Amino acid sequence: MIAIRAGLLIDGKGGQPMKDGLVLTGDDGRIVRVGDASKIPIPSGTETLEVPGKTILPGLFDSHCHMLLTTHSLEKRLFIPNSLEILKCAETLKRTLHAGITTLRDAFGPSDVGFRQAVETGIIEGPRLVMAGAIAQTGGHIDGYYPRDIELPFSEGFTTGPEFADGVPAVQLAARRVLRKGFDFIKVCTSGGITSPSDLPDFTEWTMEELKAIVYEASARGKAVMAHAEGNRGIKNALFAGVWSVEHGSMLDEEAIRMFLDRGTYLVPTLTAIDALANEPDKFGLTDFARSKIDVVARNHFDSFRKAAAAGIKIAAGTDNIEDWMHGRNARELELMVRHGFTPMQAIVAATKVSSEACRVDSKVGTLEPGKQADLIVVDGNPLEDIAILQDQTKLLLVMKGGRKYVNKI
Ligand SMILES: [Zn+2]
Repeated sequence: MIAIRAGLLIDGKGGQPMKDGLVLTGDDGRIVRVGDASKIPIPSGTETLEVPGKTILPGLFDSHCHMLLTTHSLEKRLFIPNSLEILKCAETLKRTLHAGITTLRDAFGPSDVGFRQAVETGIIEGPRLVMAGAIAQTGGHIDGYYPRDIELPFSEGFTTGPEFADGVPAVQLAARRVLRKGFDFIKVCTSGGITSPSDLPDFTEWTMEELKAIVYEASARGKAVMAHAEGNRGIKNALFAGVWSVEHGSMLDEEAIRMFLDRGTYLVPTLTAIDALANEPDKFGLTDFARSKIDVVARNHFDSFRKAAAAGIKIAAGTDNIEDWMHGRNARELELMVRHGFTPMQAIVAATKVSSEACRVDSKVGTLEPGKQADLIVVDGNPLEDIAILQDQTKLLLVMKGGRKYVNKI
């Protein structure tokens, strides 16, 4: 057993933080007790980590990440062998875990569930993986068709591609093909996006019949749909069709906000990627066409987040990390949430409890509670006073996943 006694304990549920808190973990990797250190007896033989003046909190989530994407430069992509990209992913996952991210939802990597199995069996180090397989419509956000009559989708040579399908019977088959591969989510794009070569962010994708057929197929197998949606109509179509989470949500109006609240749909606003595209566009190696689309999204995006936050929509933390230099700085999402209207506690809850619900793993992880997996971090300082310390790896003293220490500087 391991006992961690910290100056401050944040359980991820949003209540009052506890001074002099203790988490006791069992040999099975689960949490046994959480609470006031003075009231919890520590069994003899327990390894005890004393960290007064430090804060213990649940391991963080990134609910929207693309772990296999490392560059958007067309030239660079063409010169990277698939094997290198796949092996590099192992390093990306380790870097992400060591940054305090203990669960990551891969929003169509594009990768198959072998990565999840590699982490679960200990072949590579990484966060728990929740994985999405994608269905793409012709000419949509995932379709990498270039006017030179070349198709270069983001699945080029990776371990699994999107299933291209148009029309209800075709999307039913495509959904079943994605689900038989063992994915946890189906990813669709109900609007266009920035990085794609043949669409605009306010284009809508799929008919309502197609979307509802995909949602039905997912639910029939106990799974759910995550929808990339930037434009207003695409967002509403996704909500109306019954997706589990809307990704980005750049152009919200009152009607869309009402639909989120009525349906209990999760929003993953991916502030990190939009902020980086708006302020550091040169780092992405984007085409001129992609760059020309940033403005219209960024102009509305942060205002939409502020409106969503004020309305009380369930907001999960996800970065949409899509380049090598972004991986590992996932906790920046919390700083951006605070900059745009969340309290530090709201940001932490978004990156723990709410994200665990958005990723549909809340029965196992996401909060510090007895019975849940011992996924937790210890940071030097108080993130409620300075949320940015969560992304400062010199202040990250402990990263534990399933009771095992992956980073330990205590
Ligand atoms: Zn994405």
